[in-house]
Amino acid sequence: MMPETDILPCFSASYAEAREKFLNECKARSLAVDSRLNPDAKGVGGEELYADIVRIGRSDSSSVLLLMSGTHGVEGYCGSGAQIGLLRNGFFEDLPEDLSVVMVHAMNPYGFSHDRRVNEDNIDLNRNFLNFDGPERPQSDYSKIHEFILPTDWGGPGHEFANSELAKYIEKNGINAFQAAVSSGQYQYPDGLFYGGDKPSWSNTMFRSVLSDYLADAQSVGVIDFHTGLGPYGYGELITAGSELQKARAVQWYGDQVTDPEAGTSTSASLDGMVAHGIAETLADAQITFITIEFGTEDINTVLTALRGDNWLYLRGDLNSQLGKKIKKDIRDAFYPDKDDWKLSVWSRTHEVIELAISGIGQAENDRPVRTRLT
Ligand SMILES: [Zn+2]
Repeated sequence: MMPETDILPCFSASYAEAREKFLNECKARSLAVDSRLNPDAKGVGGEELYADIVRIGRSDSSSVLLLMSGTHGVEGYCGSGAQIGLLRNGFFEDLPEDLSVVMVHAMNPYGFSHDRRVNEDNIDLNRNFLNFDGPERPQSDYSKIHEFILPTDWGGPGHEFANSELAKYIEKNGINAFQAAVSSGQYQYPDGLFYGGDKPSWSNTMFRSVLSDYLADAQSVGVIDFHTGLGPYGYGELITAGSELQKARAVQWYGDQVTDPEAGTSTSASLDGMVAHGIAETLADAQITFITIEFGTEDINTVLTALRGDNWLYLRGDLNSQLGKKIKKDIRDAFYPDKDDWKLSVWSRTHEVIELAISGIGQAENDRPVRTRLT
């Protein structure tokens, strides 16, 4: 395992720095990077925004481990650090013949660059993989709290009133119902939190084309999507998604530590329109074993307050004011504790989980029925 002193520089202080490190690491290993430009937005410093894709190993491998960072923008500091650490560590240099690793660096580069969880259209990418063709949209109780989630001011009487209304809602319905109402995803309020959009976003379309280009022939696909903001500080919870069969396979690979929002064992609420749904749709013939790895940062109230503040700021506040600067610091701290102990726990947990994934995917390979047997 990589010495602790060397892992810290794998983490970055901005999207631009993270991207440069990722590209340099790929270059040093002669890995070709496929950079997909987001034409609809620019970064916080005016820079171009890209999702960068790289494959390690053979392009015709039947098993693929897919590692994704930055689905939720600002959470990308974590996943990017892990991806760069894995590359720098040469972790994938001796892959089994039939396994390749595909990394998507910065799924939502706008959010990463601007320290936002959402994309350029205020969309939560992990609620955007919905079938938008029909009229049906998942319903939640978000409409009951939207006006308090987005107060008229921040730090003044409107904010105070909204907080007391939210406190009443929690007292009446419980904290879990509140978390579900806020975060399970909503499709009615484009200016609200956890908004899933009304059509596939750039990142959604980009990602589906990456899946078709890189994974169309894969038989077994292990996915690890890196997130932050829920659960105990520095701990990486492994959260399943998908069919019962997929969930059972995740338990086979990773053990009983795996949690399931639909069974109420996770710190996450049940979600619609997840990236996992898009993968299952696009790679309908593959065996998919999907895990969200969710690294805890601060308590849920602090995290939700940071998200509400950031949403308010872009709709009603001034980014250049003192208050604006404080809100931006708060959201960054809530999703990226810039502390050595946190980064080291992200790294050691990543290391452990990737080893389980590689041995799980190898096991799946052995279990696959032999198609022809000559006697
Ligand atoms: Zn997330």
